[in-house]
Amino acid sequence: MKVTIVGAGAMGCVFGARLASADATVRFVDVNESHIEAINHNGLECALDEGRFTLPLSASTASNAHGQSDLIIVFTKSAHTEAAIASVKHLIGDETYVLTLQNGLGAVEKIARFAPRGRILHGVTTVPAELLGPGKVESKGKGKTQFYAVTGAPAVLSAIEQLFNKAGLETVADEDIEKAIWTKVIFNAAMNATCALLDTTPGPLGDTQAGRDLAESLVEEGVAVARAIGVDVDAASVHAMTTMSMTKHRNHQPSMLQDLMAGRQTEIDDINGAVMRAGREAGVNTPVNETIYRLIKIREAL
Ligand code: NAD
Repeated sequence: MKVTIVGAGAMGCVFGARLASADATVRFVDVNESHIEAINHNGLECALDEGRFTLPLSASTASNAHGQSDLIIVFTKSAHTEAAIASVKHLIGDETYVLTLQNGLGAVEKIARFAPRGRILHGVTTVPAELLGPGKVESKGKGKTQFYAVTGAPAVLSAIEQLFNKAGLETVADEDIEKAIWTKVIFNAAMNATCALLDTTPGPLGDTQAGRDLAESLVEEGVAVARAIGVDVDAASVHAMTTMSMTKHRNHQPSMLQDLMAGRQTEIDDINGAVMRAGREAGVNTPVNETIYRLIKIREAL
């Protein structure tokens, strides 16, 4: 399978490295010139659970990538999805599928401006990844990937499921994907933005009654929105996830916290912002998500 990874950052590199090891033909497309150059000159240096190794892979900007792909995986941060998919529209042919495993909601609508909905796949992943520097990626610990087609049930689902599992990426084509996506969005809306705003990690947040109450309100709002649009999210499971995060992953730095510390734009628009917008459309009030959304927007601008 010819696979193009658009957004060859932490996640893109881990998925690309693993898929290349499973005999997929992988190329990376990114906008970061020093990262592209490092991959092309030195190969992609990987530190994975099974050890350290270097893969001779190729990377380029979109304008230097040619030839259609069987599968395009979009792995930019959510704010860059539209620019990224627009830049690779020449790689999308009649048989190309486009997969997003990014966090948040809204990627499908952006991708649908450049690819038919019938060839868009979406999902979630808990695979961990960190970019250590240009051309260097680390992934420690296992994760699970769930995905499905936006419409229909094309045969490509099982081909991708098989390829990803062969590549060591535990993956399931899950018909109930909207539930998985919303569950993760609601969890992130409760923990990610809150920790980012408070410059803290899940442990100290959960050590206070106020922190636990805040996370609970965010979860309850998100679940109410999901249910109003027909996605049957289980509130108890999301509460269990936030409790687990506060107790077992006490010192984990959520990505939004890392983004604010590094002065980067966060994914707030597609997380709490998306819950807020979906709530408005469905007639469900989301005052806590809206407040958190606004506070992060202010922090981004400071
Ligand atoms: P990252 O910042 O490491 O990588 C994003 C890459 O996209 C960068 O290399 C950047 O240069 C590139 N990019 C930006 N604009 C582009 C454009 N127009 N065209 C092509 N490339 C472009 O981010 P990440 O940590 O890999 O996260 C990617 C997505 O996966 C996010 O939605 C994130 O929330 C989600 N996610 C991350 C993790 C994790 O552990 N890192 C886990 C699960 C989900």
